[in-house]
Amino acid sequence: MDGIAGRPAATAWPGGIVQVRVPLPFSLKWVNAYLLRDERGYTLVDPGLHTDEAKAAWEAAMAEHRVAFADIHTILLTHQHPDHYGLAGWFQRRTGASVLMSAESHAYARRLWGPDGGAAFAAELAALYARHGMPAEVVATLRPHLDSFVAKVSPQPEVRYIEAGQTVRMAGLDWLAIDAPGHAGGQLCFYAAETKRMICGDQVLPTITPNISVVPGEDHRQLASFLASLRELSAYEVELAFPGHREPFDRFAQRTAELAAHHERRLESIVAMLREEPCTGYRLCLRLFGERIAGDAHHMRFAMSETLAHVYYLEHRGLIGKREAEERISYFV
Ligand SMILES: [Zn+2]
Repeated sequence: MDGIAGRPAATAWPGGIVQVRVPLPFSLKWVNAYLLRDERGYTLVDPGLHTDEAKAAWEAAMAEHRVAFADIHTILLTHQHPDHYGLAGWFQRRTGASVLMSAESHAYARRLWGPDGGAAFAAELAALYARHGMPAEVVATLRPHLDSFVAKVSPQPEVRYIEAGQTVRMAGLDWLAIDAPGHAGGQLCFYAAETKRMICGDQVLPTITPNISVVPGEDHRQLASFLASLRELSAYEVELAFPGHREPFDRFAQRTAELAAHHERRLESIVAMLREEPCTGYRLCLRLFGERIAGDAHHMRFAMSETLAHVYYLEHRGLIGKREAEERISYFV
């Protein structure tokens, strides 16, 4: 069976969980979907991005593991990012399954891919980046980039809401939904106390750091929310974590501490840069992530929003100041 980066298309884990590596046309290479078997069939967690390559991978993985579309009764989404959410509507049409996600996640999906086609969101994002010093020619690359996702998340699913504190029955176990904000507002992780397993979406990833992004229209405390969520998650006893990217892993609590330390170092770097000279958010972004992200709208958006999440965090704590002149914001120590 052809896989990704020399890995199999799917891996069966003990306890009735099948990890399906769904290909992505990004440097992330794949997103993990999970099939959890029970007496009625399967729950499918995070089906992937809607591309021909992803659909072909699904058909191969399902044939290999003898899963029919009709066997999938529930589709569960940890969060609304297109690489997780994109195939939900396509699967729902083929299976008739219920699609479950949090109301907050769904609201974000509607802002990006709802009735206005994301026009208001794109305009807010462009205005935000421009105020933080992004040149007009770079801002102009955002809208085509955002629009390029519409086909990859269509058709939109009909969804039912679940919220933190509820449990979802999967693979014969009760999985507690845990609010996990910071990477994506409204993201949910799912914890099975009986087997000490955590389905953690993109909140805790084993060898890469989840993107923490300022999002227009949200509270702009994404990094503080993320760090608080890491502390909360670290209290769960986890023997095996099933992440949205890379491979299932142990040492879950240690990984939450490593991620927190990563952000502490980045905050220190920003303060050090601002000690040298006042900078706009865009200038900081280029200094942190390198000029190489210029010209790549996808990486630029992640890098810029991540930079702003750190800058806002420092500003809320009074560790840096800001001044605004000619509709440009710059920061200083
Ligand atoms: Zn994500």
